[in-house]
Amino acid sequence: MNYPDVMEKLVSLCKRRGYIFQSSEIYGGTGSVWDYGPLGVELKKNIKDRWWNAMVRSRGDIQGLDAAILMHPRVWEASGHVAGFVDPLVDCKTCKGRFRADKLEDARCLRKPSKRPGEFAECQLTEPRQFNLMFKTFMGAVEESAATVYLRPETAQGIFVNFLNVQQSMRQKVPFGIAQIGKAFRNEITPGNFIFRTREFEQMEMQFFVEPEKAAEWFDYWKRERMAWHLALGLSESRLEFHQHTPEELAHYAKGAFDVQFDFGGTLGFQEIEGIHNRGDFDLRQHTEFSGKKLEYFDQTGNRRYIPWVVETSVGADRVTLAVLVNAYREESVPGEEEGRVVLGIDPALAPVKAAVFPLTKKDAQPDMAHAIVNDLRSQFPVEYDESGSIGKRYRRQDEIGTPFCITVDSESASDNSVTVRSRDTLAQDRVSASDVARYLRDKLAR
Ligand code: ATP
Repeated sequence: MNYPDVMEKLVSLCKRRGYIFQSSEIYGGTGSVWDYGPLGVELKKNIKDRWWNAMVRSRGDIQGLDAAILMHPRVWEASGHVAGFVDPLVDCKTCKGRFRADKLEDARCLRKPSKRPGEFAECQLTEPRQFNLMFKTFMGAVEESAATVYLRPETAQGIFVNFLNVQQSMRQKVPFGIAQIGKAFRNEITPGNFIFRTREFEQMEMQFFVEPEKAAEWFDYWKRERMAWHLALGLSESRLEFHQHTPEELAHYAKGAFDVQFDFGGTLGFQEIEGIHNRGDFDLRQHTEFSGKKLEYFDQTGNRRYIPWVVETSVGADRVTLAVLVNAYREESVPGEEEGRVVLGIDPALAPVKAAVFPLTKKDAQPDMAHAIVNDLRSQFPVEYDESGSIGKRYRRQDEIGTPFCITVDSESASDNSVTVRSRDTLAQDRVSASDVARYLRDKLAR
C-alpha cells in the first residue's frame, strides 16, 4: 500500500494548532531545530513516559539514568566518535550548497528548477571530504586555554561510563540494563523532513548487559519487545517493518543490527525510527582501555570475570512523535455535512487533551455547568474548556488536535443533569450523567 505524503499538511497543522513551531521563527528560523508547543510537549512527554514505564518502571532488571550532556573529551576518543563519526561532504562552488556525498541521489541542488547536485552543467562539486558531526564547544572561562568538549551525539556513552556505578550501587546481576532519555546533538549535513532529522533531538536508549554467549538470544528478545512497543502506540502494522543491516551497513563494532522502520508515506517511505544493535564488548573494552578502569563483571555463580556484551535499543523520541502524527493524520467526509474534517486519530492514551468541554450556548448558566465539569475533570485528565464560535467549529478544532472526547452542556443539562459525550472516531454521541463523566472517560481511556 502506498501511503500519501502528509508532511506539508502536518507541518502547517502543527504550527496552527500549537504542536510544533520552528525554532527562533521571528528571526527567520534556525536550520532544522524545532520547538514543541503546548500540545507537542504533551504528546512527546506521553510517548517518553510510555517508554520509561515499559523499559524501567515495569521491570526489575533495568535501571534508569540521567547522565550529563557534557562529558570528558576522552569519552569520544574511546567511543570512536572523534575519528569515525563522520559523513562524506561535498560542496558545490557554484550554488554554495553542501551535500552528503553518499546521498547525492536524494539531494536537490539549491538552484531552480530543482535538480540533483551535479546535474546542471555549471555545477562544480568538490571532492568528498570527511565532516565530523559532533558539535564542539569550550569548557572553562578562557577560550584559548579551555578544553574542547562536545555536545553528546548519542546518550549511550553516559550509560557505558556509568556501568560500574549503576551495577554496584543497585546490586544488579548480569543480565541487566540501564536506560535513559535525553538530548543528543548532531551537526547533520542534510537535515530535514520536519522533525525526522534535526540537529538537536531526544533519544531513548537502553543498553542491556549480557553474558557473551547469550547475546544473540537477548538480541532476538529485544527485537520482539521493541516491535511490540511500537504496535502498542497504535502505529499501523502495515507501516512497520524490520530492516536488517547488510555487512556494508554494519558499524565496525556491531555484531548484528536491525532497524525498526516506519512508512512515513510519499517519497520518504520506510525510514528508521529505532536501531537494535548487538554491540559485543566494544564499548566497555574501549572505555577500559582509555580510562584504565576495568569495566568487568564478576559472576559469582560461574566464578568467572568477563566484559559483558551489550544489546542496545536506541529510539528517537522526535521520530516516534512524527510517526505517531503521520500515522494519525486523516481527512474524511462527515455524513450530512458539506465540509469534511481533518482528524488526528492519536491513540487516546497518547492524546495531549483527553476531553474538551463546551457549553452549547452562553445562556442558561450552561458555561457555569461546563466550568464545574472542567474543574472536576482537571485533576484527573488534561482537559480544555471552549465556548467560542459555533459548536461545529469547536468540534473541528478538537478533531484536528486529536482530542478523543467532546462533552457538551446543552439547554436540557440543567434539568436532567446530563451531558452529551461525542467520540472523535465514531462520532457516536452518548448521554451521560454529569456526575458520571469522569468514570465514563476513565473507562473509555483504559481500553
Ligand atoms: P540515520 O541513519 O537516520 O542518521 P542513525 O542510524 O545515525 O540514523 P542512530 O545513531 O542509530 O541513528 O540513532 C538512534 C535513533 O536516534 C534513530 O533511530 C533515530 O530515531 C534517532 N536519531 C538519530 N539521528 C537523528 C536526528 N538527526 N534527528 C532526529 N532523530 C535522530
